[in-house]
This record gives sequence, structure tokens and C-alpha cells, in this order.
Amino acid sequence: MMRTIDVRDLLGHPGASKTQALLDTIQGLGTELAAVPEDRPIAGELLLESVVEGILASGRLSGTMTLQCARCLREFSESFDVEVAGEMFTTAPGPDSDEYPLDPAGELDPEQLVRDAVGIELPFSPLCKPDCLGLCTRCGGDLNLGECTCTEPEPDPRWSELAALFEGIELDEGHDRSEGRTT
Ligand SMILES: [Zn+2]
Ligand SMILES: [Zn+2]
Repeated sequence: MMRTIDVRDLLGHPGASKTQALLDTIQGLGTELAAVPEDRPIAGELLLESVVEGILASGRLSGTMTLQCARCLREFSESFDVEVAGEMFTTAPGPDSDEYPLDPAGELDPEQLVRDAVGIELPFSPLCKPDCLGLCTRCGGDLNLGECTCTEPEPDPRWSELAALFEGIELDEGHDRSEGRTT
């Protein structure tokens, strides 16, 4: 649970604003291969502006996410820094609106906003590096580390046919092309 923000000083005072620092952990924010660790706080600063409709929040959020490479399964972490560009909190959000609910008593709960803003930053298919070689499909060795213990790739019948074809072409190269292909 993230701490709520007391906005009683802003409610009903359009034009008023304040800056609120955030530093809180969040639970259960992640996908299969990417997550925000539950013991690592998300830091941020939100500018809260009182408007007639409610409270407009904007600012930045930063922190660390742990990722697992989709190819080689290595775990690594990466920092994130996301912008919150004017999200509305209102005491009566419409059923299909993208506004966030605001407790009329003056407690603003930033958690769902943080979840949404950081959640879209979590990659579906993280890569430890753009050219990660992944794992060998036969021995499971990490090809980035040269750990593959297979000596030769499994011969694929299609490739041996192709190889035979190429060998034929190479043999032909020494001959006059007008002779045509010899069998
Ligand atoms: Zn990798
Ligand atoms: Zn291998």
C-alpha cells in the first residue's frame, strides 16, 4: 500500500497547488519477466493542482525494475524514469473515464496512478542486450558465454540438400558456363 496524500488544503480551492514527494514501495507490480521489487521504493515528485473538476497530478516517477532476459533467462535490473502527464483525480469519476477516484474527505491515493504509469514501462520481452544470443536449444548452454557443449549443430536434412547443391555450384565454377550444368 502506498501512503495517501492529504489534499484537504487543495480541495475546493481551484488554482491552489503543491508539490508532493513520493517514496514508497509497491506490491505485486510486475509481469512474468519484469517486476518492480517489493522492497525497492519508487521515488517521485507530483505537482498537484486544484482545478474545478478535482485535482490534476503531473510529475515524474523513478525506480528500479528487475528483468529476466527472454532469450538467455539471465536476471538483471534496469532503472526507469517515467513521466506523469496530467492525470485527473475526481470525487466522481465517470464509469468509462480514465480519471482516478478521489476520496471526498481529502485523501488522494496515488497507487493506481503509479501502477498504471510504471506498469506500461515493464517490457513484455526484456533482453539483457539487444544481440543476446540466448541458450542453445540442444544443451541449454548460454551462447553468450560460449558455454555450448555441442560440437556440431544437428544436421537438418534441408541444409544437407542445400550444401550438396552449393558443392555442385563450386565444382562448376572452373568450367566454361556455356557447357551447362553437368550431372
Ligand atoms: Zn540474454
Ligand atoms: Zn549446445
